[in-house]
Amino acid sequence: MEELLKEQYAKLGISQAVLNYGNEILVLLKERFDRIDEIAEYNQLKVIHAMQECRVGEACLSGTTGYGYNDLGRDTLEKVYAKIFHAEDALVRPQITCGTHALALALMSNLRPGDELLSPVGKPYDTLEEVIGIRQSKGSLKEYGITYKQVDLLPDGTFDYEAIRAAVNEKTKMVTIQRSKGYQTRPTLSTAQIGELIRFIRGIRPDIICMVDNCYGEFVETIEPGDVGADMTVGSLIKNPGGGLAPIGGYIAGRRDCVENAAYRLTSPGLGKEVGASLGVMPSFYQGLFLAPTVTASALKGAVFAANLFERLGFPVIPNSTESRHDIIQAVTLGSPEGVIAFCQGIQAAASVDSFVTPEPWDMPGYDSQVIMAAGAFVSGSSIELSADGPIAPPYAVYFQGGLTWPHAKLGILKALQSLVAKGIVAEKDFI
Ligand SMILES: *Cc1c(COP(=O)(O)O)cnc(C)c1O
Repeated sequence: MEELLKEQYAKLGISQAVLNYGNEILVLLKERFDRIDEIAEYNQLKVIHAMQECRVGEACLSGTTGYGYNDLGRDTLEKVYAKIFHAEDALVRPQITCGTHALALALMSNLRPGDELLSPVGKPYDTLEEVIGIRQSKGSLKEYGITYKQVDLLPDGTFDYEAIRAAVNEKTKMVTIQRSKGYQTRPTLSTAQIGELIRFIRGIRPDIICMVDNCYGEFVETIEPGDVGADMTVGSLIKNPGGGLAPIGGYIAGRRDCVENAAYRLTSPGLGKEVGASLGVMPSFYQGLFLAPTVTASALKGAVFAANLFERLGFPVIPNSTESRHDIIQAVTLGSPEGVIAFCQGIQAAASVDSFVTPEPWDMPGYDSQVIMAAGAFVSGSSIELSADGPIAPPYAVYFQGGLTWPHAKLGILKALQSLVAKGIVAEKDFI
């Protein structure tokens, strides 16, 4: 078997030195991987149980057209999401175009002119800067008279409770908590930490709406933000919960009144959740959700493998090789534009779709520096599939994520390393 595998890897351009190095590291990761499999097992059961309790039936898999009144599949799926994310209700729609849209919807529908939004965890994800109006943008919250305050994390990544207390005032209506690090090198928050923060905020003013940007965090742990008091949990279906099959979509799971506000904003006052045809996407939404726990586990194994492999080569990695995980993103600081580009080109070369294209940095809408993205994906731009991206800006970190299967994630990481070797950024003699 070992020989057969070696041959296949050779056909895909992996040298024996790179393969051996990778395999040596994997021997050390057996227990970590067992733990990841246990969490996947738990979450798989959670998803199946929710589907059974909500009586998901064959009729749920056919879609509606037009207005989409009484769409059984859509309405049942929203109940399933509400159960899984420990919420009163949920909005799960193909009409929510992406994660940014889901977050913008949750914010804009629950904030009114004169209200203030607070981020107690530092700068939010790049695309939200324009939603909020941190960067001048048409249609931002700022244009509607909604103000914004931010409290950065302390240098060690913990909450600055004193500053948060000082920032909360009578205008503070909502708090936005981003679980994942996004394009930053701060640690990702655990669900338990998010719970602690929510308790603290409630202690100051119990009526503040606590929203969690859950992108990339779903099914990484056994609990979700709704289990620790979040009023709204928000994410993208072309990340973890879509399981790689959802071709589009976003979700908001939370308090009934908050979800209702979001529905009225997504469709129209008076219509809310009652309209919105599911067209033909229900089978992929359901099946993707069913696969999401194991797909997330594959991606997580890839992240842990990458951390261990690149850390041993001397590159700073966040999270580090031994830290516990709360999202599927792995940051690797390569320290140069050439390193970021070589890494991403290696990931691209490992794809099933578009393996022959060479990614280059470009001015992507919503981001303030050039970004390079590697994504040979079945669903365009899906980052639960093996993908990597990095802004071409110091510290020249690449953000690696996804992998619908563990063997694909492994191949991608080996290809990235091989690409760094080919560019002379890493030498095979450094494999120790
Ligand atoms: C991906 C992501 C978003 C935005 O989602 P898009 O689907 O890319 O619009 C927001 N927040 C975080 C933390 C993300 O990872």
